[in-house]
Formats: sequence, structure tokens, C-alpha cells
Amino acid sequence: MSATSWEPVIGLEIHVQLKTRTKMFCRCPVGFGAGENTQTCPVCLGFPGALPVPNRTAIEWVVKLGLALGCEIAPRAVFARKNYFYPDLPKGYQISQYDLPSCTNGKMVVPLQEGEHEVGIVRAHLEEDAAKNVHVGGRSGRIGGADYTLVDYNRGGTPLVEVVTAPDLHSAEEARSFLQLLRQTIVELGISDAEMEKGTLRVDANVSVRPAGSDELRTRTEIKNMNSFSHIGRGIEAEIARQIEAWESGGVVEQHTYD
Ligand code: ADP
Ligand code: MG
Ligand code: ZN
Repeated sequence: MSATSWEPVIGLEIHVQLKTRTKMFCRCPVGFGAGENTQTCPVCLGFPGALPVPNRTAIEWVVKLGLALGCEIAPRAVFARKNYFYPDLPKGYQISQYDLPSCTNGKMVVPLQEGEHEVGIVRAHLEEDAAKNVHVGGRSGRIGGADYTLVDYNRGGTPLVEVVTAPDLHSAEEARSFLQLLRQTIVELGISDAEMEKGTLRVDANVSVRPAGSDELRTRTEIKNMNSFSHIGRGIEAEIARQIEAWESGGVVEQHTYD
């Protein structure tokens, strides 16, 4: 008989593509459906000497979202370079508010069957999206087995808001309810269509489990790139079951990202 009952611990990282008319730091249009690499300019392609100018509407909209989430709002918008090398990042860095988020320390109250549940919002900040790699050949557009990869830079430089929750969610159902309310809030604010199928709402789930009643935070795994609410729910549930099984059989959970 197993003596321990387990409590899942879940924190979410959510990316929302803003539906501004133009990109985060240049005047290229934001949107789908245009021919590949037609919505680009020296700024979003990272040419030397190009001068990024922040999009005022994007800054207003992240503040709007922050206020809706009860956040403290930073008095200044500060951007920094986050350097990494990746083919879909032509500048070699992403411009982000990582160091000083516009919004911190908020919360969202989620109505659940058992009553209201408060979920902490650690931060919400602005950043720019990467371009899109298109893997050609092979199956279902994945990189494995592809013959070559093309890059469509149209998406590069699109304004994104990243929202990070505290690890305050305790079931797949709670995570789903939270996401539904967050999505509805975003759509009603009019700042994004927040459609998972279109990639304008993207969710990464961090999952761990702990003995019920304890407040420890055990090793977490991260599930990325889920493209529907039901995928998120099932992904979280499967990961919870796997981790409980690992702990109960005397093993350990190793930090891992499922992409
Ligand atoms: P990092 O900086 O490594 O990304 P963060 O502290 O920003 O780590 O946390 C990322 C996400 O993971 C947040 O949503 C947070 O709530 C969640 N998280 C952190 N620790 C745990 C844990 N032990 N179990 C589940 N989720 C966690
Ligand atoms: Mg993080
Ligand atoms: Zn541009």
C-alpha cells in the first residue's frame, strides 16, 4: 500500500502574440498569410546600424494586461539584449524586458468548483518573437528526417508578452481553468486573438509533484509546444502520473524539457 498521497505543482509560462498593426521595433506589418520574407526590413533582419524604435501600442497593451492582472507596473519600459545563437534569430539576440519586466507581482483569481483559487503572476514582460523555421521534407514539418530548413523572417520581431505564473496550480483542471480565464481576459482587452492553433497563444507547463501537505518544490520538468487546451491537460496529467510512479518506485525525477 502506498502511504503517500501526492500533490501536483504546476507553473505556466505563456506567450501571447499582440495584434498590433506593426512589429515591436520596426514598422513592418504583423500578420499571417503574406508571402515568405516579404514583411521584413533592416531592423527586424538585424542589419548593422539599424535602429530599433519601440512600438508605443505594445507598451500600452502590456501595461493594460498588467493592470488587469493586478500587477505592479514599472514606471519605465527598459529593454535588454538576450544573446543566443539560432538561425531564426537574425540579430543574434532577442530584445526583451527580462531584466526589468513592465509588470510584476500580480494575481488572478480563478473560480473553481471548490471555490476561488488565487494564482500568483510573477511577471509579464514584452519581448520580440523569433522568425519561423520551416523544415522541408521528412514528416509533419519536424526537424527529424527533414532534408533542409528554410527560414521565414516575417514573424521575427512580432511583439510578444510573456506571462509567468507562480507554481500555484495543483491539477491539470486548474491549469486549464486558469488558461481559459487568462485567454478570455486577453481577448476582451483586445490585445491579441490568443488562438493556440495559430500560435498566437503558446503555453509551456512546468510540472512537479510533492507529498500532499508539504510545501517543498521538487525537481520539475517542462512540457513545451502544446497546441490545444486538451493537449495541455493531457500532457500535464501524463507527466504527473509519470513522476508519481518515479518517486514511488524509489527513483528520481530528472529535470527535463519535453519539446
Ligand atoms: P527559470 O528562470 O529557470 O525559467 P522560473 O523560476 O522562472 O525558472 O520558473 C519558471 C516556471 O516554472 C514558473 O512558472 C514557475 O512557477 C514554475 N516552477 C518553478 N519551480 C517549480 C516546481 N518545482 N514545480 C513546478 N513548477 C515550478
Ligand atoms: Mg523562466
Ligand atoms: Zn521590420
